[in-house]
Amino acid sequence: MRRHRTTARGVLLLLLGLGLAAAGGSATAQTPPNKTPPKIIFPVVGPTMYSDDFGDPRPQGRHEGNDIMAPRKAAAVAAESGKVKFWTTSAAAGCMLYLYGDSGTTYLYIHLNNDLGSGNDNKGKCVAGVAYARGLKAGAHVQAGQQVGYVGDSGDANGIHPHLHFEVHPNGKGAVDPYPYLQKAQHLLFSAVPGTPFALSLTGTVVAATPAKLQMNLTSLQAWPSNLKLTNLRQTLTLTVPPTALVQSVARIGGGVTASVASLLNARKGAQVVVWTQPALATLKAQRGDDGALSAALIQLAP
Ligand SMILES: [Zn+2]
Repeated sequence: MRRHRTTARGVLLLLLGLGLAAAGGSATAQTPPNKTPPKIIFPVVGPTMYSDDFGDPRPQGRHEGNDIMAPRKAAAVAAESGKVKFWTTSAAAGCMLYLYGDSGTTYLYIHLNNDLGSGNDNKGKCVAGVAYARGLKAGAHVQAGQQVGYVGDSGDANGIHPHLHFEVHPNGKGAVDPYPYLQKAQHLLFSAVPGTPFALSLTGTVVAATPAKLQMNLTSLQAWPSNLKLTNLRQTLTLTVPPTALVQSVARIGGGVTASVASLLNARKGAQVVVWTQPALATLKAQRGDDGALSAALIQLAP
């Protein structure tokens, strides 16, 4: 186990080093105006549940969005790049955010978090670090996939399961059904500001391996520096394995753990695997976990 811990600390130190080097900004490709992007970023990170409840009768009238059920304080992220506006005075919406997408489509994020603890204490205000992402300022321009807030139960969702009420307004006009957008949306493994350092630890099972690539079924992950922890994931990931990656076979013998150098060629399909990714600067491809976008630094295989 010692080796594992040493590696964790090494990853953090590397991240700090990268952080100092990552001061440069990053450019974004602009989508043409007045056109909803064919694919948005799914607005919540981690496991969610939602259905097509657009237009359902509700006490205030027809339901103008889809309710995305998620754990309290799950990260709400920008569906596309755009400018944010905080809205804090609606009793029904609670802590709310407008995202004016660069495409011309406006997205509404409603019932953001207003709790300070792990339960429904209603002690938080509609401010950055509680409802909105830490350090986020009203009027800021955010990148697609950047965290904008935390899922909660503010407003008239108080005491109901935390969820994001999500609306899509093409051209800033009337709401349309978000469901087709959500069904096609690209889910993020984690959220980070593009160009800032990150590392992940990924747990799952081996699907296939070559010396240069590892395909795994992902079941849980942890991300740095956000400290995001996600479980109950079901996603297949293909990782790049550079020649510098360390591959170990890890065995538990009588309460102790031993690690020995191994080869991915001997990786058994279905074997438990833990991968530490190479510390890198966040890109949207890495956040989505696109094929080959994440590089392994350490791979630990169970025999
Ligand atoms: Zn709703």
